[in-house]
Amino acid sequence: MSEHVIETPELHVIPTSDGGSFPVRRVYCIGRNFAAHAVEMGHDPNREPPFFFQKNPNNLDASGEFPYPPHTSDVHHEVELLVGLKSGGTNIALSDALNHVWGYGVSLDMTRRDLQGEMKKMGRPWEIGKAFERSGPVGPLHPVSEVGHPDQGRIALTVNGDLRQEGDLNQMIWKVPEMISYLSEYFELAAGDVIMAGTPSGVNAVKPGDTMEASIESVGVLSVKVV
Ligand code: MN
Repeated sequence: MSEHVIETPELHVIPTSDGGSFPVRRVYCIGRNFAAHAVEMGHDPNREPPFFFQKNPNNLDASGEFPYPPHTSDVHHEVELLVGLKSGGTNIALSDALNHVWGYGVSLDMTRRDLQGEMKKMGRPWEIGKAFERSGPVGPLHPVSEVGHPDQGRIALTVNGDLRQEGDLNQMIWKVPEMISYLSEYFELAAGDVIMAGTPSGVNAVKPGDTMEASIESVGVLSVKVV
């Protein structure tokens, strides 16, 4: 094997609740997966085919701090269930999908909403609004042996103690097995892929100094300070 001609980029990992680390290969994010959030963003909540965008593996950040990003004045929080895969493949059957999950965590899909809005208007890709540095604060991934496969339970987010977002995992339009199966029809999934499973309504802006507390019943609590 030939030598790398530049410094080898670091393999990006996120922590697990059992003291290990989970190497991240790809990050898939589903859009508008809660009806009330689809409505608040001006869309029809009827069950259309799911759609996905991506963040970069090294956008995920378990430091507990979210640096306010440049070129925006409207950064929104989106609390989401994080799903980590231990294996993958193509054309995964619905009935087999959960066998590919290693575990679950709490995550935030931080969004430069003003930039995302401009891109939407022009029919351009969303990366500038979604895939910026440290745009994915995460807590530890919890193995299935610890938390099972959560498909119901409160998902919520407070800012400085005030409730902003609240929903229940059972309100997800596309369930975890459906997202895995659907993604595997279009992409080859593999160990290390993670899915951010969509956010309930109540998305709103944060500012430096704010503390966000994201929680998912039976999974965990993630506290992140905007700096
Ligand atoms: Mn989102």
